[in-house]
Amino acid sequence: MPKLNLPPLLGASLPELTAWVQTQGQPSYRGKQLHDWIYYKGVRSLTEITAFPKSWREQLSHVPIGRADIHYKAIATDGTIKYLLRLDDGQIIETVGIPIDNRLTVCVSTQVGCPMACDFCATGKGGFQRNLARHEIVDQVLTVQQDFQRRVSHIVFMGMGEPLLNLEQVLAAIRSLNQDIGIGARNITVSTVGIPGRIRQFAQHHLQVTLAVSLHASNQTIREQLIPSARPYPLADLLNECREYVEITGRRVTFEYILLAGVNDLSEHAHELSKHLRGFQSHVNLIPYNPISEADYQRPSRDRIDNFVKILKQQHIAVSVRYSRGLDADAACGQLRATVNQSSMSFRHSQK
Ligand code: SAH
Repeated sequence: MPKLNLPPLLGASLPELTAWVQTQGQPSYRGKQLHDWIYYKGVRSLTEITAFPKSWREQLSHVPIGRADIHYKAIATDGTIKYLLRLDDGQIIETVGIPIDNRLTVCVSTQVGCPMACDFCATGKGGFQRNLARHEIVDQVLTVQQDFQRRVSHIVFMGMGEPLLNLEQVLAAIRSLNQDIGIGARNITVSTVGIPGRIRQFAQHHLQVTLAVSLHASNQTIREQLIPSARPYPLADLLNECREYVEITGRRVTFEYILLAGVNDLSEHAHELSKHLRGFQSHVNLIPYNPISEADYQRPSRDRIDNFVKILKQQHIAVSVRYSRGLDADAACGQLRATVNQSSMSFRHSQK
């Protein structure tokens, strides 16, 4: 048996897996078997693939598929489940499964931590460790699918990390989620805070995924206060890149806007935002701030939120309000990892 120095198989396409079984001296149809067992049966070790001859299976025990272990699991009353997954090097990431009606959405992480340091974000407060590899992104979706025993229908890249700082692995993962797991590109949303030049670069791939941009402010001054990484990236430049995204892909852009009481939720902000977005093929997603212990922003009152929505609607801006789910399980936005790290509770009780 030749010594293999293989990357984990998860994330590999059918042609790649077929080529690999052939290098192992096996017939090409075993590539399809391998693909089915990894992506549909969800095996964690190649030795579980009973379709393979026993003698070969035994030689494959050292070939990594790339599945992570569930380190901790918190179930919220609304059915949202938040997972902490332990990666090969011991790093911990968050993944959330969100069942709504007949949808099952997975919120995936793309990095361990995040370097963007947004002031309202729990992940940003914890610093950055490393990028995730494609198999670590794909694994999150398989884990949720298996744990819910239900097909995942939608993916949002809104977990830990900044996807456009890990573009190569994110693109590889999107290909796999789409072609290997069968999730429609239009059901995949990539959320970014915006990195100069990267939205344009992403657009060149002509994917049918939805781009969500974390705008959070109606002018550059407020945006820089909330998002330090926005300093070298004027709002006008960000919006221009978003327009290019619409032109190149034909897909409208979603703008995410966290509502922070007294900071960016006043009538004047709603009017200012409307001016920027008038005539722009876009949709505004208002997210009432979800309090984190490391920051002292407040969530606006219901009246303030309604007022903001009313102004945008009067200005013919498409808008919706997204309330975070899973709050009682700390499942919203990067908080579980921080909470679990701080607390002395025993993981074993909640471990799967
Ligand atoms: N880095 C990417 C993706 C991760 S964050 C991005 O910034 O878009 C995904 C979404 O959750 C972003 O819109 C982010 O601003 C939002 N978010 C982060 N912390 C939040 C909080 N405390 N309350 C509400 N939304 C939050």
